[in-house]
Amino acid sequence: MNFDCIVIGGGAAGLMCAATAGYRGRRVLVIEHSNKVGKKILMSGGGRCNFTNYSIEPGNYISHNAHFCKSALSRFTPSDFIELVERHGLAYHEKTKGQLFCDNKSQDILNILLTECEYAQVEIRTKCSVDSIERIDEHFALQTSIGTLTCSSLVVATGGLSIPTMGASGKGYDIARQFGLQCTSLQASLVPFTLQNRYLQLAQSLAGLSLEVDVSCGAQHFNDPLLFTHRGLSGPAVLQISNYWQKGEEVCIDFLPGKTLSDIFAQAKQDKSKAELKNIIAQHMPKRFVHAWLAEVSESLPLPQYSHRQLQDIAAHFHQWRLVPAGTEGYRTAEVTRGGVSTEDVSSKTFEAKHVAGLYFVGEVLDVTGWLGGFNFQWAWASGYCAGQVI
Ligand SMILES: Cc1cc2nc3c(=O)[nH]c(=O)nc-3n(C[C@H](O)[C@H](O)[C@H](O)COP(=O)(O)OP(=O)(O)OC[C@H]3O[C@@H](n4cnc5c(N)ncnc54)[C@H](O)[C@@H]3O)c2cc1C
Repeated sequence: MNFDCIVIGGGAAGLMCAATAGYRGRRVLVIEHSNKVGKKILMSGGGRCNFTNYSIEPGNYISHNAHFCKSALSRFTPSDFIELVERHGLAYHEKTKGQLFCDNKSQDILNILLTECEYAQVEIRTKCSVDSIERIDEHFALQTSIGTLTCSSLVVATGGLSIPTMGASGKGYDIARQFGLQCTSLQASLVPFTLQNRYLQLAQSLAGLSLEVDVSCGAQHFNDPLLFTHRGLSGPAVLQISNYWQKGEEVCIDFLPGKTLSDIFAQAKQDKSKAELKNIIAQHMPKRFVHAWLAEVSESLPLPQYSHRQLQDIAAHFHQWRLVPAGTEGYRTAEVTRGGVSTEDVSSKTFEAKHVAGLYFVGEVLDVTGWLGGFNFQWAWASGYCAGQVI
């Protein structure tokens, strides 16, 4: 029951950290309170785990300290994880924008981590919950459901709050507070928006329809698909911008990025087109969307019947839809938690708490949140690896 290192949380960061330390000859135990390790890996990427991205930059992460992620991301890069994947003979492919997915299924990524843990002689105990943690001299004593455990290095890798049914808990934040570390405010992120009233009805009438948009909030914008749902808006574009959105803020959506409707109308007028407006617009985007969207501001008449001013207003309706989402779907469907253990209180090199020797925090529990596209797993691998080098 005495270990060099105990890792609380058998997810992406915890397993990577444990294997890395195990290979260094450390006696490591991973304790996981649910019945299985790596549940989020299994459900990730639609079952194919978007395990990293070819192009990882610090700018792909949100944190109160934008510099915090730099060191780990440069010391454990996408190439390092790809090398591991290839060493295990796993087939993968790039889907879009540098995002790497397994050809087969997410279980393959979890199997790699479990094999690495086995080679590194890491012990894993599932269904093990921690009741209390005490610091005694140079050690930590954990009262758990499998008895008292002690270690000299304690790693908190409990992840965020999203998808509580998959084992998510706020334990990591509680441990941080117990030892005097600050936590920033927490929010469900990479999450669909909910709408209300007229906007909700509109979204419901278009549910299932997806189209490429440019969505912006403040200075940040993303060009990706948007999906209308029965609750509001989802799809990669919406999940991405949710990382930058605060309740009450306005979001602006361009439903026809890269084209200019007023130019299209001007050209049609010059060509003396007598076509109905909806048919002119529908040459550039889904008909079902055009009919519903145009009906919001105008009936569809033959082009010559519109004034220049009316056409400008209709173009703006398609290019600059400004809305304030009612909220988000919350932790039930969010991919990540934005915010976490304050980066002010943790070393960006070792991930050790600055004022508590031997206590480490890795992965999503920290105030570092990545974009959609493999960035969150890369953070888990990188932070877990760097802590695993020193514990
Ligand atoms: C549906 C979904 C899809 C996703 N898809 C992707 C994707 O394709 N690519 C990507 O990069 N990111 C994706 N993510 C995000 C990614 O899964 C997380 O950012 C990543 O898993 C974080 O790793 P972690 O090890 O910090 O936390 P987790 O992987 O969440 O692991 C934390 C572990 O700690 C355990 N735990 C919690 N509390 C306790 C406790 N008190 N005692 C013991 N154990 C505890 C949990 O059960 C869990 O096993 C997705 C997330 C979701 C929800």
